Amino acid sequence: MSNDARTTIVWSDTYQDHETGSHPESPERIAAIGRALREAGMFDDRTVLTPDPATLESVLAVHAPHVVDLVQRAAHQGGAWLDPDTYVSPDSYEVALLAAGGACRAVDAVMNGEARRAFAFVRPPGHHAEPEQAMGFCLFNNIAVAAEHALNAHGLNRVAIVDWDVHHGNGTQAAFWRRPDVLFISLHQYPFYPGSGSASERGAGSGEGYTLNIPLPAGSTDQDYHARMLDTVIPALHAFAPDLLLVSTGFDAHTADPLAMMQVTTDAFAEWARLLKDAANELCEGRMVLILEGGYNLRALGESVVAVLGALDE
Ligand SMILES: [Zn+2]
Repeated sequence: MSNDARTTIVWSDTYQDHETGSHPESPERIAAIGRALREAGMFDDRTVLTPDPATLESVLAVHAPHVVDLVQRAAHQGGAWLDPDTYVSPDSYEVALLAAGGACRAVDAVMNGEARRAFAFVRPPGHHAEPEQAMGFCLFNNIAVAAEHALNAHGLNRVAIVDWDVHHGNGTQAAFWRRPDVLFISLHQYPFYPGSGSASERGAGSGEGYTLNIPLPAGSTDQDYHARMLDTVIPALHAFAPDLLLVSTGFDAHTADPLAMMQVTTDAFAEWARLLKDAANELCEGRMVLILEGGYNLRALGESVVAVLGALDE
């Protein structure tokens, strides 16, 4: 056990090797986070772990083989657009495996007692990637792979995922749609990309009621999010009683974000982190893993990451 009070970081500069040209989901996002963390002294007195690539087995626990084959082939043939939003560059297959592996490394650290909490700063992001299809800047669904890894490799019974990225986590929802062992809660701008995420989408079969969508109109504020955290998200977590809490940590609800239309401030992200940390402390001995998703204003992204880590370290 080392540096138990401080949130462990999973970090690799290799996440910048997924090249996307002038795309908003750019390598510069990781560079900007690195600069902000260094300037705030956030790498000091903290455990920083280096990720390994996810095993093919762990990715195939979420994705159909043809999804993995397509990303590998597109990358190794020199790069290709999978859809108008989603680019694969020559190194993207290896980087995508490293992103899923970084999420799994954070889970391992928390489950092995190396860390109480961990934040994996990975890209490409993952929550739009569906079992049958890469999409929406996302190649493999990092948080879904991490949840399956927690269930399969660490023998957990129940994993909760809170997705506060401004977009609906359609891929994560699809992965666990019929599953009662993974609670998926998403707060997102609605209607908005990718189109799914209405409150009537609640899972199916034995998974009915284990998908919880909280659609929010464009222009929603800190107060709007705070109210839904208190009246819906936290009570749902208590009712479910997870063994581990995972967070799809996007920063694109920020008022400065160029892609979305919410009015959330940097302080709000810190407050959500505090609320979820308290829930994890009460429900699952603090076991909490944050995994980077979106966030496209580089200044807001850096500031918000520093604010969230600061809140978690309190
Ligand atoms: Zn997003």
